[in-house]
Amino acid sequence: MTGAKFLSKEKLLDWLAELGQTRRVFMPVEEGGKIVFRPCTNGDTPALVRDASASPKGVVFPSSAELFRYTKTKARGGKSSMELKPGTEFEPALIFGTRPCGARGFTIFDRVYTGGKFNDPYYRAARENTLIVTLACEGPENTCFCNWVGSGPDDPTGSDVLATPVEGGFVLESVSERGEALLESPLLQPAEARTAEADSVKSRARAELPPARDISAAPQSIRALFDNQKFWDEVSSKCLSCGACTYLCPTCYCFTITDEDHGDSGKRLRSWDNCMSYQFSLEASGHNPRPTKAHRLRNRVGHKFSYYPQLHEGLLACCGCGRCIRSCPVSMDIREIVLDAIDRVQAKNCEVVHE
Ligand code: SF4
Ligand code: SF4
Repeated sequence: MTGAKFLSKEKLLDWLAELGQTRRVFMPVEEGGKIVFRPCTNGDTPALVRDASASPKGVVFPSSAELFRYTKTKARGGKSSMELKPGTEFEPALIFGTRPCGARGFTIFDRVYTGGKFNDPYYRAARENTLIVTLACEGPENTCFCNWVGSGPDDPTGSDVLATPVEGGFVLESVSERGEALLESPLLQPAEARTAEADSVKSRARAELPPARDISAAPQSIRALFDNQKFWDEVSSKCLSCGACTYLCPTCYCFTITDEDHGDSGKRLRSWDNCMSYQFSLEASGHNPRPTKAHRLRNRVGHKFSYYPQLHEGLLACCGCGRCIRSCPVSMDIREIVLDAIDRVQAKNCEVVHE
């Protein structure tokens, strides 16, 4: 691996412009009082403040993407044919300034869309053509719990380069071969003299996180409570089923397909979906296997802390970013639900009430 490099704050925009010669560079920018990831244009400066709501998920998995277009033709004699044209092509991209939780989120997606029996060509093309330069966190917010799920403020999982803020700039370390190539720039200097400073930024940030709670019993506890409607009714009582938590979550990967048909032509879209909505599991017959918000919250929490790890060698489908906690309009806290489930099962006070 190439040694670490130092990027001075003054050269940051030049480096991003250099990277932008071959790919679109997305970075967090302030827009309408919110931090969002969008392609940078001349004059943009990255908003490198910690903001739990900004997630880079949409760069690789857009909130709404055109999969293909179609044109229908009716020949004489009544026979119809349909011509398909590819939808929006994915342009090579680079994400600068996501936090470690955002980069780790993509590795949860990878196992579903490219790592198992299904291979999603749209996701694969986007993922393979996106480089990620992650910014290590200098300290946590009170909604962060990345250390509970085996991550941390300098977790390089899913990144190509890890950038650690130091006095006057950043220490850049390559995490992948692709990241190594990014560090071959005349704008960067060898960072030997600054790596100790970067190490102490990282250890300070780790030390500032409250000690991790042991949630290793979460998968079996949530399974044990599956039929305990009373528990799920209680923990979901204030939920609005608005779905804000799912849209902001960097590991929520469900989608819906819609066709926008204009008679003789149209397009097929893939858009983010939300398992907290009643319509998500509504079947064509009118039956809904998750008719109440309690059923839907059970699915959301169960999926992240029980069903997904069961399928993926114990890996939790949550990166502990706290976005859902910070952004929930009624202050639902997924940490409390998981701990509550563990406590109830451990205390054996779980009175099973079948639906
Ligand atoms: S953001 Fe909060 S209120 Fe809205 S669906 Fe999620 S948990 Fe329920
Ligand atoms: S469930 Fe909440 S804390 Fe976990 S990854 Fe999603 S938004 Fe972050």
